Amino acid sequence: MDFNRVKLPREIHSGPGVIKETGSICKDLKLSGRVLIASGPRTMKVGGEKVISSLQEHDFDVETIIIDTPSTEAVEAVQDRMKNMSAVLGVGGGKVIDVAKMAATQSGSHSVSVPTAASHDGVSSPRASIKNEGGSISLKTEPPMGVIADTQIISQAPFRLMASGCGDIISNYTAVLDWKLAHRLLNEDFSDSASALSLVTAEMLIKSAGDIKEGLIESAAIVVKALISSGMAISIAGNSRPASGAEHKFSHALDIIAPKPALHGEQCGVGTIMMMYLHGGDWEFIRETLKTIKAPVNARELGIEPEYIIKALTQAHTIRKERYTILGDRGLTEAAATKLARKTGVID
Ligand SMILES: [Zn+2]
Repeated sequence: MDFNRVKLPREIHSGPGVIKETGSICKDLKLSGRVLIASGPRTMKVGGEKVISSLQEHDFDVETIIIDTPSTEAVEAVQDRMKNMSAVLGVGGGKVIDVAKMAATQSGSHSVSVPTAASHDGVSSPRASIKNEGGSISLKTEPPMGVIADTQIISQAPFRLMASGCGDIISNYTAVLDWKLAHRLLNEDFSDSASALSLVTAEMLIKSAGDIKEGLIESAAIVVKALISSGMAISIAGNSRPASGAEHKFSHALDIIAPKPALHGEQCGVGTIMMMYLHGGDWEFIRETLKTIKAPVNARELGIEPEYIIKALTQAHTIRKERYTILGDRGLTEAAATKLARKTGVID
């Protein structure tokens, strides 16, 4: 008999100034003694220092490590430092949080996510994207034990990051369509609750699209909530199907092919426009929503040459082959990819 197991974060806190509660939240999580703070060079100043002082006020013994790239070496470095520590707190953007989750998982310890930006759904999800020689790979991790999302800090991050986070959430639409397709064609396991949560999350974000503006705490709250729910949908499904389909394959292909890729969620947003077209859905609505949020909707806004868009479209099906999507097993021909990108206004 197959048992279903869902692992979720234990405590999720969000709101303006909540970062100052880190120490007491960590006490509630039954953490004590030594903890490691993994942060980026910039995010250490923005969030790390507040986390440290709150932890010290609660008698934690705090050590720090600065992460530049989310590489396997960074994961190992964090693991080395984590010996005899009760947890690692990832304070920063998606990269730092991913490294913290991975290191905690591999050392059988705990992680706490303290995002300083709302750029993708890795904040609470049980997955991490880690760089090795072959590029970036998405790996399974334990979910973070706690999430502490300070909407004041997140609202002050560059707006491009938040718009990118919205693109990552909007991609739930095509991800769920791809999942349903794989369920119908290949009898792949499908979860009604995970897909419903994923879609409701995207719908709520779309309804609030007009309220997502630069520098507003309320906007940060909307996006953070959606990113956390998206991560929950991934936890419930036990895989990233509710939030990652052909549009993510397109984004991963761009990461490999384009000399200067754009942000993950920005690429996924543009991918969603095109994959929705292939699914025969309302792609124009997806494009309008992204425009309202001021997220990129075409190659020029992504800062990527049209030739790489076409190449990524023709190669997207080769990424993570076992995940069946609207791209099928053979993918798009160059002529079909060009037509698709032109028709949806992604290239001229
Ligand atoms: Zn994503």
